[in-house]
Amino acid sequence: GRKFFVGGNWKCNGTLEEVKKLVGTLNAAEVPSEDVVEVVVSPPFVFLSTVKALLRSDFAVAAQNCWVRKGGAFTGEISVEMLVNLGIPWVILGHSERRLLLNEDKEFVADKVAYALSQGLNVIACVGETLEQREAGDTLNVVSEQTKAIADKVVNWSNIVIAYEPVWAIGTGKVASPAQAQEVHYELRNWLNVNVSPEVAASTRIIYGGSVNAGNCVELAAQPDLDGFLVGGASLKAEFVDIIKSAT
Ligand code: 13P
Repeated sequence: GRKFFVGGNWKCNGTLEEVKKLVGTLNAAEVPSEDVVEVVVSPPFVFLSTVKALLRSDFAVAAQNCWVRKGGAFTGEISVEMLVNLGIPWVILGHSERRLLLNEDKEFVADKVAYALSQGLNVIACVGETLEQREAGDTLNVVSEQTKAIADKVVNWSNIVIAYEPVWAIGTGKVASPAQAQEVHYELRNWLNVNVSPEVAASTRIIYGGSVNAGNCVELAAQPDLDGFLVGGASLKAEFVDIIKSAT
């Protein structure tokens, strides 16, 4: 089976004091065992080492981005090699905030995914449609194209988690209904089945992100093709513990 996965994307938030307090809350929480749920939190780069050092050993950390190829003269960027050097096991790539606000196109995202995997990182690869695309009936087309760009550059899927994050649900309080999420997760799995392999379709975790909270996570988690969450705002609060506990 696919182990339930709960990611906390802290985005560009927090002071050192707040980050330490949040880690303290997580460390004190009683949650299901590692056999039941994989928990990964993603602080901003500058807090990664601190969080990694303080965080309980059954939770892991993720970077929120990385440079697309080997490091070098790329001012302001953080390379995959640096993350590997620090023992950071995961990276989030293709988040819609980066696609839309920083103009990362699907080929660039796919190149990052392929390079990060090639150096041994695990990748949370985000896909999702805008409200305009959904209203135009383009949702499945958009998420398949984003997934195809990745599939064209990746051979081994064992270290990828796909995060379906409808842009209209991110930070808006407008969560996808369980049926809306399940439909897209089902179609993404079917896309993998047809275009990659039945084995990859069966084993790849497809997690949902967009206004997940303690009140809506249980019903979402019950959907057959939903294998976890990528949580934004609620991952900065004690509420994140309740979301971890929704693991099925
Ligand atoms: P919110 O949970 O704040 O809607 O953010 C979701 C997200 O973008 C996680 O990556």
